[in-house]
Amino acid sequence: MTIVDVRTPDPKKFIKGATGDWEIVIGMEVHAQVTSEAKLFSGASTEFGKDPNDNVSLVDAAMPGMLPVINEACVRQAIRTGLGLKAEINLKSVFDRKNYFYPDLPQGYQISQFKQPIVGEGKILLDMPDEQVEIGVERLHLEQDAGKSLHDQHPTMSFVDLNRSGVALMEIVSKPDLRSSDEAKAYLTKLRTILRYLGTCDGNMDQGSMRADVNVSVRRPGGEFGTRCEIKNVNSIRFVGQAIEYEARRQVAILEDGGSIDQETRLFDAVKGETRSMRSKEEAHDYRYFPDPDLLPLEFTQEFVDELAQHLPELPDQKKNRFVSLGLSPYDASVLVSEKELADYFDKMIATGVDAKRAANWLINEHLGRVNKDVPVNLMVVSPEANSAIVQMISNSTISGKIAKDVYEIVYETGRDPAEVVETEGMKQVTDLGAIEAIVDEIIAANPDKVQQAIAKPGLLGWFVGQVMKQSQGKANPQAVSDMLKQKIGLE
Ligand code: ADP
Ligand code: MG
Repeated sequence: MTIVDVRTPDPKKFIKGATGDWEIVIGMEVHAQVTSEAKLFSGASTEFGKDPNDNVSLVDAAMPGMLPVINEACVRQAIRTGLGLKAEINLKSVFDRKNYFYPDLPQGYQISQFKQPIVGEGKILLDMPDEQVEIGVERLHLEQDAGKSLHDQHPTMSFVDLNRSGVALMEIVSKPDLRSSDEAKAYLTKLRTILRYLGTCDGNMDQGSMRADVNVSVRRPGGEFGTRCEIKNVNSIRFVGQAIEYEARRQVAILEDGGSIDQETRLFDAVKGETRSMRSKEEAHDYRYFPDPDLLPLEFTQEFVDELAQHLPELPDQKKNRFVSLGLSPYDASVLVSEKELADYFDKMIATGVDAKRAANWLINEHLGRVNKDVPVNLMVVSPEANSAIVQMISNSTISGKIAKDVYEIVYETGRDPAEVVETEGMKQVTDLGAIEAIVDEIIAANPDKVQQAIAKPGLLGWFVGQVMKQSQGKANPQAVSDMLKQKIGLE
């Protein structure tokens, strides 16, 4: 593959070395388990958490003479993912054998796609704090997962669990367009969000449904690409960030010392926060790739692809644009689309007709702030309709913003209806000017010296507003209180 550098070096991302600046270059290979009930070439179940070797057919165990049969559901999922990545879909692709020996690989080869993958070039847009970055996707191909060797179950024996053997994976390969650990983390987060919206991979890294191989090299800013090391199977987004930071600094130290980087495969040790060498990098020819004679080339029509494209759900970028068009800031919109469940929640809120911007503020600052304190996080503990009702009551001055928090807390604890809470607990905002005036007069009469000070220093008005609000137990309309105080003290 010829690599075209699409990025302009950005000094904010440089590593400062003893001999000058260095730029980090990162490319990712993500293995995403396809959401499908059956495996890629057999009818065995993919259910997680079964006893070892419960989900194994004769094909997955590589019994002699068994033949793989392609699972159409997995093909659809790969195409849908390709469409979600705005990628080129190849109407013809080929399955190859990637040959290697490993105890958890009973066939002695993995069925993968090498020269002709099902999906070609695409892209992923990242929202970084002060820029939008487009990261190229090189390809997406379908392949089988291997089994798992279990070494710590018995003092002298190892076991093999073939439940994962034959499970469909999509390998999604990025171009080396990433330039910092933050971008790499944002890339994985965004990719996971897209996969979850599509329902093509559950994205659960802790269950191994999504794993990242991280390729890292360093170079002088804008210079020739350096030799890369590939850190295998990193299983959390945070670890990806740590592995990159460690690895880039390790390489800089070697280069500044006059050494050179060996292209190799490394492991990330999460306990030590270090990467360490695993093996020298294997080359494609080591695998003796050749087209699998048990499988025909995979071919489908453009109509088949178009049909899938028509039924694609609204994806994060589209949703974000829609939210921005409703008046949300790009930042708030990207927070809301980051999790599908949250975006759906917000959509339910605005379906009630509540003001979108106010709803977003309330959802992000109050509701999320509160539910995120709980484990497990449960957005639905207060329904979207209930939160909308609270926001509506603030908008139409039925309750003050302060009282709204109390209403929310009661709804949160008891599940009661917000309007009923406000009514029953007497929490309505007092906009009755007569009632407010009585309190204002009382506070002014009790604090003649403060009144004199406020005339000289109008900033003190806030103190008076606070006193009146306190006296009214938060129910007075703060704007009405402020207006009346200004008038009575003579600040207008
Ligand atoms: P392989 O399959 O042998 O690992 P590829 O050429 O397919 O090799 O590249 C794998 C990954 O390495 C891709 O994500 C690519 O972007 C990335 N990559 C390639 N060159 C570099 C480099 N110099 N520095 C960092 N990453 C790189
Ligand atoms: Mg690789």
